[in-house]
Order: sequence, then structure tokens, then C-alpha cells
Amino acid sequence: MLLFETVREMGHEQVIFCHGKNPDIQAIIAIHNTSLGPAMGATRLFPYINEEAALKDALRLSRGMTYKAACANIPAGGGKAVIIANPENKTDELLRAYGRFIESLNGRFITGQDVNITPKDVRTINQETKYVVGVSEKSGGPAPITALGVFLGIKAAVESRWQTKGLAGLKVAVQGLGNVGKNLCRHLHEHNIKLYVSDVDPAKTAEVKQLFGATVVEPHEIYALDVDIFAPCALGGMLNSETIPLLKAAIIAGAANNQLGDEQIHSHMLDQKGIIYCPDYVINAGGLINVYNEMIGYDEEKAFQQVHNIYDTLLAIFYIAKQQQITTNDAAKQLAENRIMKAKHNTSKQVAA
Ligand code: NAD
Repeated sequence: MLLFETVREMGHEQVIFCHGKNPDIQAIIAIHNTSLGPAMGATRLFPYINEEAALKDALRLSRGMTYKAACANIPAGGGKAVIIANPENKTDELLRAYGRFIESLNGRFITGQDVNITPKDVRTINQETKYVVGVSEKSGGPAPITALGVFLGIKAAVESRWQTKGLAGLKVAVQGLGNVGKNLCRHLHEHNIKLYVSDVDPAKTAEVKQLFGATVVEPHEIYALDVDIFAPCALGGMLNSETIPLLKAAIIAGAANNQLGDEQIHSHMLDQKGIIYCPDYVINAGGLINVYNEMIGYDEEKAFQQVHNIYDTLLAIFYIAKQQQITTNDAAKQLAENRIMKAKHNTSKQVAA
């Protein structure tokens, strides 16, 4: 990998390589853009096959966070950190050493919990730095607010597709009934939507069947159902060259991160099938809105107000996509880049004044 060329092409401001001998630590902090505010991004601990894989993950995910925060209208930038380690070798010493690196950035990067980092680990990191979120979990976790954001996104997509605000009678397939999927089912059920659900855990499907009268299908059957909306709320990569041809839904609107196997190829495949795709990082921004509000002092009303912006942002994205004949994925990027450019412009005007 051509290091500086890659970083310049992806538009990163700074990449920090953290290393030490005692404890033995290797971590990468990627700061993509701070035009809108300090870079926010969770920390992932993973036994990457090599350093290049770790760097690629940090670069890709930090850029994604910039777009996510900009689309959510949060005064934050994009960042991401990866610690290269086997989860079995995770110690308090390692986490505290990592915390000292975060502290040294003096608030330019604010982190939280991702793969292989638990709430307890976050509290350990917090012993060395205040620039970490999710320490007290004042809000009771991000899932309810994320689910509300997805529900509002569904409303926006329905309005754009069928020029109606009515949801009753629509059929929605929800894949994955975890923290977000189950909460989403509740909203949909309250609006008289017919639910079709799948999960690899039979206890979860049984619960949602009992609570909301959902029809349960096998995990492999969920894609080809004759429904209006497909809501992926399980794992990433579920929209790919094998599954997209099966889809009959007119709208994709779900919480899962990185839903598209390949962003460019599969966003175009959906577009060609006439399916409205709600970009994942726009519709699932409730999680980020939640941690941001925890950071500034949690106010439930304010957080729920901010999540309502997801509805307007998606309508704006659908409009841009239609006007310019581009995918919703590209329209979302354009909207984010415009917001960042505007912020940069305002800052340079203030400096000049
Ligand atoms: P979760 O782990 O609670 O739930 C995921 C569910 O998907 C589980 O019930 C699991 O059994 C099920 N599942 C796994 N593989 C499946 C398959 N092949 N078919 C059907 N079901 C399957 O996770 P969550 O917190 O509900 O988050 C769901 C998704 O949304 C994840 O991709 C997550 O990264 C993303 N997301 C979550 C939040 C949040 O606030 N929790 C915020 C943003 C994005």
C-alpha cells in the first residue's frame, strides 16, 4: 500500500500509529475530518491478519463516520481506532496505555465501544482519558433511538415512493430481531404494518410473533418475500449479488451497518431494480446521535428531536438522487460533502474576519 497516497486520496487529516513495549501495544487512530467538530469513532480490537488490513479498516471506517455525522447534522467529525490484538490478550494495562494515547490528542478524537471492546473496557480506558463515551450509559443504550430513526426513515421512503404518509397495510420484512430489530417491530406494529420476520435465534422470532403477530420465516426465505419494504437489522453485507436479484421489496430501510457487499456495485444494482435504498449510515445514525448526546450531557428530548432529522435528511437525499439521476448512496455522500465544505468555508471566513 502506498501509505501517503492512500491517505491523501481518502482525504484523511491525520493517522496516528500508537506503539509501545510495556505493555506491548499496536494501535492506529485515523482522523478523517474535523471540519464539523472533534473526530468521533469507536475503538475496535481485532487480531487483523496484517498491519495493512488494520490500517484499511481504520481508514475506511473513519471516512464513513465523517459522512454519518455530517448527514446526521451532528457537530462532530469522523474518526476510528483499531487496536491490533487478540481479544484473549486484552488486559487493563493495554487498555490504559491506549487511553493515554487518546488523552494525548486532547479531544481531537473521541472514542467508544466497538468489536471486542465492552462497556467495562470503556470504563478502564476512561481511567486515563475523559475523551471516551458510553461510560455511564445514561440513555439506557442506543438501540431504541436507532430503531426510531429507522422507523422515521421508512416513513420518508414510503412518502417518496408512493406520495403518502399512510403506513397501514404495508408489508415489511425485518431481518434480525436483536436490540434494534425488535424495537423497530414495535413501531411498525403500532402503525398497523404486517410483519414478516427472521432470526437465527428461534427464541427471538417466537417472542416477536407473540408480541406483534409477526409471520416467522426461515433466514434464507426473507429476501424473496412479496413485501413492500425489507429492513436488514442483522449483520453487514446482506445485500449482495446473490440476494439482490431475489428482492421484491420496493424499499430497503434497515439498521445494519455496511449493508452493501460492495458500495458501488450493489447500490447501482438496487438502483437498476428501481429499489429505493436508504443509505445505512444515514438511517442508522440514531446510535451516533445517542453517544453524542451522552457526551454533551444526556437530554432525552434533545436526542429524540435530533433523530427526527433523519426523516428530512432522507427526503433531501431522495430528491438529490432523482434530480441528478444518481444513486441514493452517492446523493448521501454529496449532501455530507456539501455540509462539510460549508463548515470549512464558514471557519475560513471567521479566521479572516
Ligand atoms: P444485535 O446483535 O442485538 O441483533 C442482531 C440480530 O441479528 C440477532 O438477534 C442475531 O441473532 C440476528 N442475526 C444474525 N445473523 C442473522 C441472519 N443471517 N438472519 C437473521 N438474523 C440474524 O444487534 P443490534 O444492536 O440490534 O444491531 C443490529 C444491526 O444494526 C447491526 O448490524 C449493528 O451494527 C447495527 N447498528 C446498531 C445500532 C444500535 O444502536 N444498536 C446502531 C447503528 C447500527
